Amino acid sequence: MNIIETEKLSRRFGHVTALNEVDLSVPNGSIYALLGPNGAGKTTLLETLLNLWPPTAGVARVLGCDSRQLGPGQLAHIGYVSENQLVDDRLKVAGFLTFARGLYPTWDSQLEQKLIHDFEVPLEYRFKELSRGMRIRALFIAALSFRPRLLILDEPFGGLDPLMRDELAAKVLDLAQEDGGTILLASHDVDEVERMADRVAFLESGRIRLADSIESVCGRHVKVVARLAKATAPAVAKRESWLGFRQEGEIVSFVTTQSVRAESVDWEQELGAAASITTAPLSLKEIYLTHARIAQAERNES
Ligand code: ATP
Repeated sequence: MNIIETEKLSRRFGHVTALNEVDLSVPNGSIYALLGPNGAGKTTLLETLLNLWPPTAGVARVLGCDSRQLGPGQLAHIGYVSENQLVDDRLKVAGFLTFARGLYPTWDSQLEQKLIHDFEVPLEYRFKELSRGMRIRALFIAALSFRPRLLILDEPFGGLDPLMRDELAAKVLDLAQEDGGTILLASHDVDEVERMADRVAFLESGRIRLADSIESVCGRHVKVVARLAKATAPAVAKRESWLGFRQEGEIVSFVTTQSVRAESVDWEQELGAAASITTAPLSLKEIYLTHARIAQAERNES
C-alpha cells in the first residue's frame, strides 16, 4: 500500500511553476528521499502534502486522504521536521513539548523521556538560547515521541556537524524501522540519502526525472567507455538512453540507463567495431550529478 500518492500534482506561485505534474508513490514502510537542486520544488512538494498549500492542479493523497482534507485526525500521525520550522523563540523546550504532547493521542511519554536523555536537550532553555543542533534535536523529540506513521523531513540535518548528523540520522532510522513507519526526506546530501533511504526521486524544475528503488537506479546506470577500432571512426549513433554521451576521436563514453544489465549488451554491435570496452557501476552521487548536469544543460538551451 502507498502511504503517499500524487497524480499530476502541480503548484504554481504566480508565474513560477514550483511543481509540474508530479506523480509520486511512496510505499508504506519505505525510507524515501527527494533529491534536487535549489529551487527544484522539494519544500513545496512536502508542504503541499501537509496541506500547507493547496495544489493548483492534480491531487495528493496522504494516509489515504486528499491533502486538501487533511485535518487533526491525520496530522496526529504525521511528524514533520524542517530546518526552517518556525517556533516561538521565547518558548522553553519543556513548554514546547507539553504543547506537542497535547496534540498527539499516541504520545509515548517513556519514549519522550528516553529521547530527552539521548539527545541531551536542556528542557529549561528557551528556543532562542538553543544552538542549531539542540534546536533540531528538540524538534525531533516532538516529532518522534508519538511514533508517527509518516515522518516528513525537510533538510533536517543541514548545518549539523558530521558526528551529530550521523547519530541523529541513525536514531531516526532505528525508530522508524522499529515502528514500521515511513520517512519522506528532502535532502541535498546524496551520500546521506544513499546511507539512509531505500527509494529515491530526482526532482528538477518541479518535475520528477527519475523515481525508483536505489538498488534499481544504481543497477540501471552504468558508465561505458569504449575505444573504437579505428582512429578515424565514424560518429557513433547515439541512443536516447545514453546520458552524457561524448565522442572524442576513437574514445566514446556515456552513462547507459538501459533496463537490461550492461554485461548482457552486445556493445560491439551497439558501437560498431570496438577495440576495448569497459563498463563500471556508478555511485548514486555520480548518477545524480549526471542527471543534474543534463537538466542544467537543457535549461540553458531553452
Ligand atoms: P531548496 O533546495 O533551495 O530549499 P526546493 O527544492 O525546496 O529548494 P522550493 O522551495 O520548493 O524548492 O521552491 C520551488 C520554486 O517555488 C522556487 O522557484 C521558489 O522560488 C518558488 N516558491 C516556493 N515557495 C514560494 C512562495 N511561497 N511564493 C512564491 N514562490 C515560491
